[in-house]
Amino acid sequence: MSVLVYIEHVDGAFKKSALEAVSFAKAVGTLVNQPVYALSIGEVAQSELEKIGKYGAEKLITVNQAELKQFLNQAYASVIAEVAKSVEAETVVLSNSFSGKGMAPRIAAKLDAALADGAISLPRLSGTAWTIQKTAFSNKAIATEELTGSKRVIALTPNSFEPKEEPTSITIEPYQPSLSPDDLSTVIKDIVRATNQVSLPEAEIVVSAGRGMKGPENWAMVEELARVLGAATACSKPVSDAGWRPHAEHVGQTGLAVTPKLYIAIGISGAIQHLAGVSSSKTIVVINKDPEAPFFKVADYGIVGDAFDVVPQLIEAFKTYKN
Ligand code: FAD
Repeated sequence: MSVLVYIEHVDGAFKKSALEAVSFAKAVGTLVNQPVYALSIGEVAQSELEKIGKYGAEKLITVNQAELKQFLNQAYASVIAEVAKSVEAETVVLSNSFSGKGMAPRIAAKLDAALADGAISLPRLSGTAWTIQKTAFSNKAIATEELTGSKRVIALTPNSFEPKEEPTSITIEPYQPSLSPDDLSTVIKDIVRATNQVSLPEAEIVVSAGRGMKGPENWAMVEELARVLGAATACSKPVSDAGWRPHAEHVGQTGLAVTPKLYIAIGISGAIQHLAGVSSSKTIVVINKDPEAPFFKVADYGIVGDAFDVVPQLIEAFKTYKN
């Protein structure tokens, strides 16, 4: 019996959320007294692979074949389920990232396992029943779920578990999965890189802006602030509806729910539908010229002022601080 953790990478570098997932899996492994095996799919450099031992995994299984060079939801889910069976994993952990969200239910169905997507806590064990906390209703509520049965798939919310170094000596084992034509029925024709340099669901800092920015021509300063802070950019729904920003940046009830350490809201009123997707942020900073803007009620820090005065000053201040 074991705990299997799938570790995601981008262009051969493991994501921070993948390291969080390994640490989480290690903590689960300690609870149930089972070894932790990690699984990487695609091409990753040897030095990067060896990093995983630092976070407590005993074995790293690598799958690297031409058909799996690019992420394919069905195929990757099949490989993860197949490897889970081969290492008799009772628990599969992965990040609740864009790709993790799509794969977790597939893996759970293939393994006939319980599913906790969006988990934010370590499980509590009571015999075979596990309880775990997860976000619900676009982060508006925290649900405590009971996972029954002997197997479970846990998709961990990014930024909800700190990666912790627990060095072990890791063995690296290549694995050749048996893919079916159905697994490879999706064909990737082209990959268009997102303008967002930092992945929004996993970002530690998000700089988000709303209709107060007046128009798309004013987004340079939002992007500049994000660049200086190493943050992802986001926006309110009307902004993406108007085509000022891509839909992938829309956060809230009908968009992405984000959980950064710092969320900076510029010219966003703080409607309940927007707050639904951002209220789990650890620290919220609001910049709005209206002191009565509802967003200030949930802000940790508020700046009442015109974004066109405040944001350039913040950019200069952060640049000076960094130098
Ligand atoms: P506004 O409400 O127009 O607010 C603009 C703010 O900018 C104001 O507070 C104003 O004081 C401030 N401002 C103006 N000029 C400046 C300046 N120069 N400097 C500083 N501040 C300035 N919205 C979402 O965001 N996400 C969702 O997922 C979402 N889902 C929805 C689902 C449903 C079913 C419905 C009905 C609505 C949903 N909405 C959602 C829309 C939501 O109700 C609000 O209309 C929206 O969030 C408002 O966007 P905003 O704050 O950018 O714009």
